[in-house]
Amino acid sequence: MRTTTIPERERLDQASETLALLEHEFTSRSLFTERGPGRAVVTARGLSRVYGKGDAAVHALRDVDIDIAEGRLTAIMGPSGSGKSTLMHILAGLDQPTGGRVSIDGVEITRLKEKRLTQLRRDKIGFIFQSFNLLATLTADENIVLPLSLARRKADEAWRRTVIEAVGLQDRLTHRPAELSGGQQQRVAVARALITRPAVLFADEPTGNLDSRTGGEVLDLLRRSVDEFGQTVIMVTHDANAASIADRVVFLKDGGIELDEDRMTRDAIYDTIKTLEVTR
Ligand code: ADP
Ligand code: MG
Repeated sequence: MRTTTIPERERLDQASETLALLEHEFTSRSLFTERGPGRAVVTARGLSRVYGKGDAAVHALRDVDIDIAEGRLTAIMGPSGSGKSTLMHILAGLDQPTGGRVSIDGVEITRLKEKRLTQLRRDKIGFIFQSFNLLATLTADENIVLPLSLARRKADEAWRRTVIEAVGLQDRLTHRPAELSGGQQQRVAVARALITRPAVLFADEPTGNLDSRTGGEVLDLLRRSVDEFGQTVIMVTHDANAASIADRVVFLKDGGIELDEDRMTRDAIYDTIKTLEVTR
């Protein structure tokens, strides 16, 4: 009957319109472009890394999936040889995986040619190393703005002052690395990593060469960069004390993610390390 078929068809039309809308919503909102709190800045899927071939092959990473949320501090822990450095190098575009893919801030880096990759690292990534890696011939100030100089970009003066103040180096700017303590050198390195406002800051054992007091200062600084500037930080560390400042602690074992927890106390981290090492 006409009176029933017409409304039915209208309902069907409405339903297919709604479906089309939903579909559009869904496909236009990719995993990598979503904004706002909790957005994944780094996304890795099915990562594997094999060193060597045949009998000598070492599976350093086995099918790792991980998302790193914006504005959080994530610590990566695990026994020696568990794949921490390999994972960090691949997430930062310093090494290519054998399988799987990585995106940083919406760009799939595992497909980029070396030139674009170098550019992306320069624009989107900050690094802090265990051994500071400052240029000996440059002053603290010149070291801090080096990433901008290399990119031929000018420092935003207000941001530069904010960063220098945050790391507390106002009165050390003309000193060269040899005239600075280890803790001061690492603070220069933190400032150098923050000056470009990177999408993600990678820190590889940032307190590994520091005593506990100056190491604590550097950790405070990393924590503040997250809380005050919304910086996203990924820190590889052996140190339970360092990992206890993180919002999330990811434990690797034999190239896989063994445990992935929000905020952990130092004692809980110690216990987990012990458990992982016993069950090796
Ligand atoms: P971690 O940083 O947790 O100590 P790595 O990522 O350095 O672990 O190493 C993971 C595994 O891969 C280890 O078994 C290590 O010996 C191996 N490995 C790392 N780099 C290489 C390489 N260049 N060649 C061969 N094996 C490697
Ligand atoms: Mg390592």
